[in-house]
Amino acid sequence: MRILVVEDEKKVASFLKKGLEEEHYAVDIAFDGEEGLFLAQINEYDLIILDIMLPKLDGMEVLRRIRIHGSSVPILMLTAKDSTENIISGLDSGSDDYLTKPFAFAELLARVRALFRRKMKEKTDFLRVGDLSLSTSTHQVKRGGREVELTAKEYALLEYFMRNPNRILTRTLITEHVWDYHFDPSTNVVDVYVNYLRKKIDRGFEKKLIHTIRGSGYMIKDEP
Ligand code: CA
Repeated sequence: MRILVVEDEKKVASFLKKGLEEEHYAVDIAFDGEEGLFLAQINEYDLIILDIMLPKLDGMEVLRRIRIHGSSVPILMLTAKDSTENIISGLDSGSDDYLTKPFAFAELLARVRALFRRKMKEKTDFLRVGDLSLSTSTHQVKRGGREVELTAKEYALLEYFMRNPNRILTRTLITEHVWDYHFDPSTNVVDVYVNYLRKKIDRGFEKKLIHTIRGSGYMIKDEP
């Protein structure tokens, strides 16, 4: 895990670097906003700790420019003033958490760990095919930004599809992964459920995501 600390107070910066390195994180330091933004753009960090009051470019502006370029790196803001205004505008411009100075190192470490956990979760728990998304932690499914209500079996089927995009899934494969041992393979229950899913996922959309592969099975893909 690699962390960028952007902090102009040398004492605070070296205290953070030392403490985080003791926790086995790799740490880079920038002492002003410009340098911080530059490092954030050329390196792939797992987390950025960003002070608000910085020379050359303040923390809010650094944050804004990092987000403009589409980076979703977790950012923990440090603010000297306990002003709600500062905090709210920080969260609005895309920071993930904040800490008011002075803070205890244990507190900072707890926030850092929480942000890492959240980041790892998002990486593995979020599946996407085109404008269809599925969260395996909340079981929320959305198509084109709108929530889709699914039954438990429809959800299980869709999750299996979305874990295997662009791949032909035969009825045998589908039943093995989505149904239990008591499943009777002579029924057409797979086709029935795929049709239920289609009605909820594809109906009303010009682009269909669930495709029938004649004589083989089904495939989910984001192409015509
Ligand atoms: Ca500062």
